[in-house]
Amino acid sequence: MRIRFASLALAASLATPSVFAQSAPAWTPPDAATKDLAVSIYQQLIDINTTDSVGSVTAASKAMQQRFLAAGWPAADLYLGGPNDRKQNLVVRYRGTGAHPPILFIGHLDVVEARRSDWSTDPFHFLEKDGYWYGRGTQDMKDCDAILVTTFLRLRKSGFKPDRDLILALTADEEFGSSNGVDWLLKNHPGLVKAAYAFNPDGGGVELDDQGKPVDAEVDASEKLYADYQLITTNPGGHSSLPVPDNAIYHLADALQRLQNYTFPFELNAITRAYFEKLSTLEQGQNAVDMKAMLATPPDQAAIARISEEREWNAALRTTCVATRLLAGHANNALPGMAQANVNCRILPGHSREEVRQDLIRVVADPKITVNWVDSGGGIHPAAPDEKALPPVALQPAVMVPLEKLVAVYWPNTPLIADMAVGASDSVFTNAAGIPTYNWSAIELKTEDERAHGKDERLPETSFWKGVQFWPQFIRMIAGGSQPQP
Ligand SMILES: [Zn+2]
Repeated sequence: MRIRFASLALAASLATPSVFAQSAPAWTPPDAATKDLAVSIYQQLIDINTTDSVGSVTAASKAMQQRFLAAGWPAADLYLGGPNDRKQNLVVRYRGTGAHPPILFIGHLDVVEARRSDWSTDPFHFLEKDGYWYGRGTQDMKDCDAILVTTFLRLRKSGFKPDRDLILALTADEEFGSSNGVDWLLKNHPGLVKAAYAFNPDGGGVELDDQGKPVDAEVDASEKLYADYQLITTNPGGHSSLPVPDNAIYHLADALQRLQNYTFPFELNAITRAYFEKLSTLEQGQNAVDMKAMLATPPDQAAIARISEEREWNAALRTTCVATRLLAGHANNALPGMAQANVNCRILPGHSREEVRQDLIRVVADPKITVNWVDSGGGIHPAAPDEKALPPVALQPAVMVPLEKLVAVYWPNTPLIADMAVGASDSVFTNAAGIPTYNWSAIELKTEDERAHGKDERLPETSFWKGVQFWPQFIRMIAGGSQPQP
């Protein structure tokens, strides 16, 4: 996934960036050699189709492995492996002094499907045009894969010795498919990816307004839990000339209408409460009044209803479930023997998929409708996992202070805020494994340029150069380097 800014920024700013803005040097674009290296890696990744249907993550992993080997990386520090031929992951270890536990960086290599007929250009051909690079994965997230590979190569070439190991895991099946690489590595080779904390550039970043001015820098420290459910009903069917009231389509339609009319309960957590408290002081008029009333004890229900009309706020305040697919019947002149719908839910921290399945059964209120859980590989299960969506990740000063400092160099006077993503990423696996994970990309985007998963996906060149320069500086800051220099 990469949904930026569709999520609402949550939680308060940590310090005042202007404190650093005065003294900090401005960022500078990379030199020609670095640009060539970064773009050639980026192009190579985009040109390799890594979709679940026909692509190969292994081809991309091997191409990156070759890059590291060619640069003199010890072969023993490059692990290539996965559950099958097409879904091999690459884990790169950058040896440090070992004074501190490792830091992990994760980046998925797979991309969402893209049809040539939908696009203006070939989605699997890297194309430069009008200050943009086009291609599937230019935003989600081969940009950051290329940036991290470039960063590791540059840092090593410069002779930088981190005070801990740095681990880069380039992985399969974040978007789709049953061989999620992060999950597989954690289950099969936990020692390879064990770390004190992790960064996942599959989210977070800098939002620009229409004029290109930074609005805020967001680091995702919490995520909603993703879940699909199948609502299904079967019926003996029969000839459509002899209809009866007991009809599969009508059962399902009624059930979906009850779901449509249902609103999951309003609920705040530490992050969302802190965010709305801050926002209530920045918003004007009715919104400010409503936010304060919503935060009061007891919360004002009318205020909650008005705030919930804003879809991003609504998604932050409650679990949401929505019908996304329908399938029913088999012939124009037959009573339907089956009707089913997919319902997609985004679950608040503190709740489980099974809890929400029980909610759906209650809301649907029809014993003829079965509610199954659908796993990420499409498998149908009569019950869902009991694990709860994890609480927000703690904002460690060791991470947030240098991050805020460097954000002030690249995007002066831009608040850095922690937020809860309304989508989900591979961080769900690392967080569950006890590796607190920060979603942060260092990529800046205007809303109009957000095309992850869409047609004509593209990235502005300036966004890429900032990312290329940001990451090595940031890694030096968090891994024992003294000066923030590339
Ligand atoms: Zn993604």
